[in-house]
Amino acid sequence: MKLRFAPSPTGLLHVGNARVALANWLHARRHGGTFVLRLDDTDRERSRPEFAAAIEEDLHWLGLDWDERIAQSARLDRYAAAAERLKQDGRLYPCFETEEELAFKRERRRREGRPPIYDREALKMTPEQIARAIENGKQPYWRFRLSPRSVAWTDLVLGERRVKLSAISDPVLIRADGSPLYTFTSVVDDLEMAVTHVIRGEDHVTNTGIQLDIFEALGGDAARLAFAHLPLLTDEEGGALSKRLGSISLRHLRKDGIEPAALAGYLAALGTSADPVAGMPRDLAPGYDLGRVSHATARFDTRHLLALNRRVLHEAPFAAVRDRLPEGADEAFWLAVRGNLDLLREARPWFDILRGSIVPPVQEGEHDFLAAALAALPPEPWDGTTWSAWTGALKAATGRKGKALFLPLRLALTGEEQGPDLGTLLPLIGRERAAARLRLAAGA
Ligand code: GLU
Repeated sequence: MKLRFAPSPTGLLHVGNARVALANWLHARRHGGTFVLRLDDTDRERSRPEFAAAIEEDLHWLGLDWDERIAQSARLDRYAAAAERLKQDGRLYPCFETEEELAFKRERRRREGRPPIYDREALKMTPEQIARAIENGKQPYWRFRLSPRSVAWTDLVLGERRVKLSAISDPVLIRADGSPLYTFTSVVDDLEMAVTHVIRGEDHVTNTGIQLDIFEALGGDAARLAFAHLPLLTDEEGGALSKRLGSISLRHLRKDGIEPAALAGYLAALGTSADPVAGMPRDLAPGYDLGRVSHATARFDTRHLLALNRRVLHEAPFAAVRDRLPEGADEAFWLAVRGNLDLLREARPWFDILRGSIVPPVQEGEHDFLAAALAALPPEPWDGTTWSAWTGALKAATGRKGKALFLPLRLALTGEEQGPDLGTLLPLIGRERAAARLRLAAGA
């Protein structure tokens, strides 16, 4: 079994691509197959090495690796050789029409109520006419003559699928400058690399019909190639996610503080009826089943992703986050605050509260109570029982209880109305800071 993820390095990896990458990786790993990263970089104008590097970094961040990496730009001789074979067989034919001519023809067909597909005029050119056109300085581009048939396959996600090739224009496979197009290069690679499964977005369904025809024209056995098309993602409102691609690149999510285990778990379950379970891809692979992905579009809901992120943080051991915590943060700090975080960066303000300095607000009308609290503050050493001993004594002395007892203390000690359990926080704050804050909050 051999699978590939084939991004075009023309931009950053967004969640739609990441989902496709993950599905390929999980399916490959689940079944002991090979996973290849293939950079579809034949579009010289739009492909950039920086994007390729960013894609690889983002895939690694998500927990994906690959057994092989190939770049299409290094395989141009293979495509030229395959194109030559198709030319010999009369399947690739030269065309000279300009964009304007083609637009004009499409418009005319539309007016005549006919489908606006290419009329194959170029196929009627004689060898002499072709030679003359080239002599006159015109460079041909090359179209693939599609077979007059329907191509059918059993999609691993969408079920029975069929594409009627006579309803499609013969695709251009080679540009006038000689550069091959993705429609072609992808087939040559899938054939020569002996890819067995192509998992990609539903937007490629028509391509699959065309590409299977090219695959067979090159001598491939279509029965050995399985396809799975993942339904497209929509945003929370059901609109096309593609409109906001930039805003949900992996870079962006990562910068926003999304953990890779949350994103991987979320994407792996997206479009299935299963509840997402956070986990790095290697942990998700054993339970992954492509067959559970439904035919319907899947909704990418950042709120659900955030909920999963929270769960990841709440259970994260210190070792998993230590490199990203403020300098000096130790395990006791992490265990005290992790249950209160949506995003890891929210640990920073808690670090300042527990180990740095904050200025709590002065609490009008609470001077006497806070002064009493200060006076009752037990001597160190402090531990997990200090809080209840201290507040128990205060309760007995002042008659306060519940919110009236706890809220002024929480506000004075942390500057926040909410937060982790104070029994855990108090020893981490320490007596010196606690005393200074009670004094400030009392307005003394
Ligand atoms: N470069 C193509 C894309 O990013 C690859 C599609 C495929 O997997 O064949 O859409």
